Amino acid sequence: MSGENVHNVIIIGSGPAGLTAALYAARANLSPLVFEGPQPGGQLTITTEVENYPGFADGIMGPALMDVMRKQAQKFGADCQFKMVDEVDFSKRPFRIVAEGKEYLAHTVIVSTGASAKLLNIASESEYMGYGVSACATCDGFFFKNQHVVVVGGGDTAMEEATYLTKHAARVTVVHRRNELRASKVMQERAMKNPKIDFIWDSVVADVIGEKNELGHKKVTGVKIRNVKTNEVTDFKCDGLFLAIGHQPNTKLFQGKLDMDSVGYLVTKGRSTLTNVPGVFAAGDVADPTYRQAVSAAGTGCMAAIDAERFLVHEGHD
Ligand code: NAP
Repeated sequence: MSGENVHNVIIIGSGPAGLTAALYAARANLSPLVFEGPQPGGQLTITTEVENYPGFADGIMGPALMDVMRKQAQKFGADCQFKMVDEVDFSKRPFRIVAEGKEYLAHTVIVSTGASAKLLNIASESEYMGYGVSACATCDGFFFKNQHVVVVGGGDTAMEEATYLTKHAARVTVVHRRNELRASKVMQERAMKNPKIDFIWDSVVADVIGEKNELGHKKVTGVKIRNVKTNEVTDFKCDGLFLAIGHQPNTKLFQGKLDMDSVGYLVTKGRSTLTNVPGVFAAGDVADPTYRQAVSAAGTGCMAAIDAERFLVHEGHD
């Protein structure tokens, strides 16, 4: 903290980007305050094994990786608080942040609020979320051993999820709203060559069908599929539904306050983490429609902390 209760750095979000920014800022003696948000640890906390984060030859469970990252940042003095940010004011400095009704001031802010999987916006999808409906094949594929699952989407994520699911499921049906895929050629070919994967074209999932099992637990027994050309609706038997229709950056809080692209990803300048507001930096998936990897998020988290530190020195707050 410097001056009159003004924090040097406030970090919003606690995935790999936020916690790496916290580690670097803490080691630079900036005593960062981290508002962890609704999903402390971010998207990796809902995955199982992470095999592509460097440094873990045998892989590591997503939640365990995030626990270690948080502990490492805290060891150097990061203050991680399980709080949601309700409001930000970046119109003047110090910046004002309201978290759970309390006001905080900061010379710099690092936004690392990540992105969330998009949903179909049909009522039954929320009703069965976690009971057969999922947005993460790597987290939940295991539960569908030898079963039949439906994947919605026609992009790289859908092809990747469908291909991954064939490790567990007996059959995977991809339902796509057009008759051609958006996915890259290589991903399309891999999915199309897989004998366990079939496709239903020009169609959308209009509803989830389910029942309660003998223990009273809800489970998915099928989906209603609507052909968008004929409008015909058919009942399709399956045991699970995976949504793979893209991600939405978590930027609602910053609308009209920070520059974003047409989808809502924050726009940064060149190869830096600078946003259009001097002193506000963006790191991780919230500003990355392309790579969206834990390690690339951590990398930009490091960059944001360095950018913030340099800004503080430049502004005479060191
Ligand atoms: P995406 O490319 O935006 O594809 C989303 C897919 O979902 C599209 O096929 C879209 O249909 C469909 N869709 C969107 N909203 C829908 C709705 N409400 N109902 C039904 N279908 C809907 O998203 P993504 O696949 O998540 O990929 C995002 C980015 O990450 C891309 O740049 C991709 O290349 C990259 N990525 C790369 C890899 C890899 O290389 N390993 C893996 C995953 C993702 P339309 O086609 O009709 O629009």
